[in-house]
Amino acid sequence: MSKAVASRAAQSKTTQGVREQALEESLELLKTITTRSSFYARKFAGIDLATIKDAESFQALPLTTKEDLRDAYPLGLAAVPPSQIVRIHSSSGTTGTPVIIPYTAKDVQDWAIMFARCYEFSGITREDRIQITPGYGLWTAGIGFQLGAELLGAMAIPMGPGNTDRQLQMMMDLQTTVLGATSSYALLLAETIAERGIGDRIKLRKGVIGSERWGEKMRTRIASELGVDLHDIYGLTEIYGPGIGINCEAQTAMHCWDDYLYLEIIDPDTGAVLPDGESGELVITTLQKEGAPLIRYRTRDLTRIVPGDCPCGSPYTRIETLIGRSDDMIKVKGINIFPAHIEEALSVTEGASSEYQVMIDHLNGKDIMTVFFETASPEEHRPYIELALHQAIKDKLSLSVVSKAVNLGDLPRSEKKTKRIFDNRY
Ligand code: ZN
Repeated sequence: MSKAVASRAAQSKTTQGVREQALEESLELLKTITTRSSFYARKFAGIDLATIKDAESFQALPLTTKEDLRDAYPLGLAAVPPSQIVRIHSSSGTTGTPVIIPYTAKDVQDWAIMFARCYEFSGITREDRIQITPGYGLWTAGIGFQLGAELLGAMAIPMGPGNTDRQLQMMMDLQTTVLGATSSYALLLAETIAERGIGDRIKLRKGVIGSERWGEKMRTRIASELGVDLHDIYGLTEIYGPGIGINCEAQTAMHCWDDYLYLEIIDPDTGAVLPDGESGELVITTLQKEGAPLIRYRTRDLTRIVPGDCPCGSPYTRIETLIGRSDDMIKVKGINIFPAHIEEALSVTEGASSEYQVMIDHLNGKDIMTVFFETASPEEHRPYIELALHQAIKDKLSLSVVSKAVNLGDLPRSEKKTKRIFDNRY
């Protein structure tokens, strides 16, 4: 591990140790937060922060939501004078006012350190050539990959999204060894490489895949078609950006950097903190942020904290691959459904590919859910695959759906996040 990336948390030997230290630092933060941040001075008005001295009282503090951040537009989150802000990023709000996050020079540096640590955890070194396909600009994707690559000392190839022909040309000409991408763009590249039969001219060995939850089947396809080891990178613009956690080489859960973050899992309905191991919504407190410190921020990401220590020996807390977003949950006939449920059903359905799209309609007084999935199988086999998927979803959710096979490549691919569930009922 390089000097730049060495951390204080690693001095503690166990996950429990680093989590206790992160809680201590969260409590410490409360001593100064209301004098630094007018946002929190308002939010915590009427709360005697001096009485918050342990996990239990910390868990009683109000959560910070995306709506709170929107209300602070444009620079209401800033906890430093404007002259100390060196950059802003903005999260891509699908509706209404965006969220703007101000960064100080230290925030930018800390983000680079975390991202470089992610590369190191994935076995990426300064000898690697990293082709960066996420977008550059107001949002944090491409620039995070770039910062980390430069701090590590690897060669960054800052392509940004799109223009698949040029991406593949550069990948061959520069002998790119690492691909940074969303899962849907990695799949599109993998499929194009296979179609054109240029696999032997591609030298990729690692994929760092971010910003989207994805199923096991898609992972296996991308890994085998690109011939790479895949690593899920985690992050969100409100909390630096991508690079706050990544899966190690031991297994698929993602280590998150407890020297910068304190993690909690809550019940998304009641807000109550859940014990380690139980699934719920991830809530993050930033320990070192200057520009826009956040306390108990609701990420909307659903996951769980994996209890115990990782076989790789790193004490950093692990969260499981995201199972969805709390706002992706849809209710059909009274049953809560997440995209992960559909992906799991697809993964046990022989002949079904990883790509799918769900349509929910209301017809003749009834909700009807249709699952379109891609398959390479010939027409005459498709009714059997449709039946198998219907049964797999019924077993999992006790819900009858209409299951419909389409050709490989028929469903939309996107360079950003692929929307898979369309609720046409309202
Ligand atoms: Zn590990």
